Amino acid sequence: MSRIVFFCIPAHGHTNPTLGVVRELVARGHEVLYYSYRMLQKDIESTGATFVACDEFDAQQHLTPQEGARIGSDLALSTRVLVDTTLALDEAVCREMERLRPDCIVADSMAVWGKAVALKLGIPFVSSTTTFAFNRYSARIMKQSGKGMLSMLFSMREVNRQIRRLRDRGYPVKSILDIISNDENTDTIVYTSPQFQPCAETFSEKYAFVGPSIRPTVQQIPKTRDRLVYVSMGTVNNDMLPLYRSCIDALKDMDCQVILSVGNQVDLSQFGPLPEGIAVYSSVDQMAVLEKADVFVSHCGMNSVSESLYFSVPLVMLPKTSEQEGVAARVEQLGAGLLLKKTTPEAIREAVTRVLEDPSFREAAARIAEGFRACPGAKGAADKIESCCRTVVPKIHG
Ligand code: UDP
Repeated sequence: MSRIVFFCIPAHGHTNPTLGVVRELVARGHEVLYYSYRMLQKDIESTGATFVACDEFDAQQHLTPQEGARIGSDLALSTRVLVDTTLALDEAVCREMERLRPDCIVADSMAVWGKAVALKLGIPFVSSTTTFAFNRYSARIMKQSGKGMLSMLFSMREVNRQIRRLRDRGYPVKSILDIISNDENTDTIVYTSPQFQPCAETFSEKYAFVGPSIRPTVQQIPKTRDRLVYVSMGTVNNDMLPLYRSCIDALKDMDCQVILSVGNQVDLSQFGPLPEGIAVYSSVDQMAVLEKADVFVSHCGMNSVSESLYFSVPLVMLPKTSEQEGVAARVEQLGAGLLLKKTTPEAIREAVTRVLEDPSFREAAARIAEGFRACPGAKGAADKIESCCRTVVPKIHG
């Protein structure tokens, strides 16, 4: 039995893919402690892991709502939050890890404090990457738009200032790339297939492409019409009432069943009476909906896209951050979705109609699904982590 410690950032998208892995490790008899945030406590505890709250150290909770909405798209602000959280957690986490002496630390690629403490204390380390693995080759798919490039150039001075704060406290980071890129010598789990990952062949044998983590469905979604259109902008920047209204306008006369998941920042009563066939929820069992859906209008978070493609559901894509743009670019390159440039009801209706009527989109999605289903999944990720642990006592079967 090994003692394994997980670290993650306060985001469903970065946590969800790890839950199946944690469940598998617990089932194999390992002790798992998961350092995360109260918003995720229930999900984490449902795996059998011990939850440890880091909320008081989270720099995001001191942001204004306006700043909060810029996380992920504003590089300088995102770096400041990462650095503030790392420094706030530094002492407490080092002390705890010295006491616990875990056999392995697994940290989300954005939870830099996990990697930092593992390096400092010489604990075996595995990086958990819920987006595409990032190196100079795969970076090409994440082509920056002219506007994105400019804002990145303007924020570099602030980003470098933040990185210096980490260096001053003894962290071995030279540039922002040390934080956001994956390196060849670190054992890394990537929750996608080698087919969907751009330039998978350029990553070392330290990388395990285990495929997306698909949660079991808990609900039954009745299909009330021939076609089901699902709309969701994810769980983070989803306060988009005008967009949801535009979708309702676009889809109300299309003879489709429509399910919108709008998050908990939008007050559902603002929609008023809904046209027949259209239902709006704060949150849905996304697996259950995708199992029945014919098209997904999505912000292109990596998880949503992977889950959609796993069920061979093609996408109409509305990316907002550069990471989402990268994911959308890959889907478009493989022919499994259509990028939406405008969000008028006409543009949405046209895109949804095209994706529904041209079978090539679903066929491309089905090809990607095949690659996903051939991946080793949570068991493969657990094997990788076990192989990195310093002591593994094999379980006696039978
Ligand atoms: N999700 C869900 N129900 C909803 C909306 C989202 O279960 O109503 C889940 C979805 O299945 C996915 C995650 O929340 O696993 C969203 O992650 P993603 O990377 O797509 O986007 P983010 O929320 O990080 O922007």
